[in-house]
Amino acid sequence: MPSPVPGTEAVPGTEAGRDDVYARLKAYEGRVAGAGGVGKDLVNEPMIRHWCEAMGDTNPAYTGADAIAPPTMLQAWTMGGLSGHGGRSAAYLELLGLLDDAGYTSVVATDCEQEYLRPLRPGDRITFDAMIESVSERKTTGLGTGYFVTTRMEVRAGGEPAGTHRFRILKYAPAVRERAVVPPPRRPRPVVNRDNTGFWEGVSRHHLLIQRCEGCRTLRFPWLPGCNACGCLEWDTVEAAGGGTVYSYVVMHHPPFPAFDPPYAVVLVELAEGVRMISNVVGVPHDRVRIGMPVRLEFEWVDEELELPVFRAIEGSGG
Ligand code: ZN
Repeated sequence: MPSPVPGTEAVPGTEAGRDDVYARLKAYEGRVAGAGGVGKDLVNEPMIRHWCEAMGDTNPAYTGADAIAPPTMLQAWTMGGLSGHGGRSAAYLELLGLLDDAGYTSVVATDCEQEYLRPLRPGDRITFDAMIESVSERKTTGLGTGYFVTTRMEVRAGGEPAGTHRFRILKYAPAVRERAVVPPPRRPRPVVNRDNTGFWEGVSRHHLLIQRCEGCRTLRFPWLPGCNACGCLEWDTVEAAGGGTVYSYVVMHHPPFPAFDPPYAVVLVELAEGVRMISNVVGVPHDRVRIGMPVRLEFEWVDEELELPVFRAIEGSGG
């Protein structure tokens, strides 16, 4: 489950990162990061229930007499809680110390990957060991320059392999902020990823595309990898005709965000096709936006690089 932290993507074209520190870090690959870990609790129903409630996961596999634990709970069974495990090895602490001493004093968790080998069930006793799997060359990221350190934890249940949890951090020296030149604030950029790239391609051609499940034909917005209604992963798109109404709205006064000029209305538009999207209404003052107001799709350049779908209040509807 990748969850990159904004600003940690390595910037291509930076200097080769195979420096002296890298050579010393590299020697730690394959060494123990933590050994002999034992889960503080057996796999148990109350923790599973709390997890499912927090995640809003109602999958019936996680309740009842034959319940299994959600696979993504893998790491939860290894966590030490506030009092910790004290489980970091001397080698791992040395590696972190080496980075601190070389000036890479900040740390951010960047992502984790898990593999599941067998389901976990209430009553399973969890044990685990972790090793330092890899250290990257020196990379320059939006946060600063540093090294990615990946640890790999092998998780066992009743002594049998149950899963693998890879965890990656960036140990870095924070970037020195330039004080002299402060660029004018710009609207936040949309996060374009493989799940929604088609939507933004559509916007660039002035088409507002809605995903449609190929299994059950349910329309969905915002874009998601699978269908909420039936779980099908196949989809195509339909283009919104452009009509809609204001389903709900808020008027933002505080807190102020750079590049936004409060007060302004943030609206939830219900498209004619039935799905809803968050946007802005143009052509009407914020205090005349009303629920039920008919609106029509437009595309608006908010700066020289960013064009967004917005909705224009239809003449005479401002109440
Ligand atoms: Zn479906």
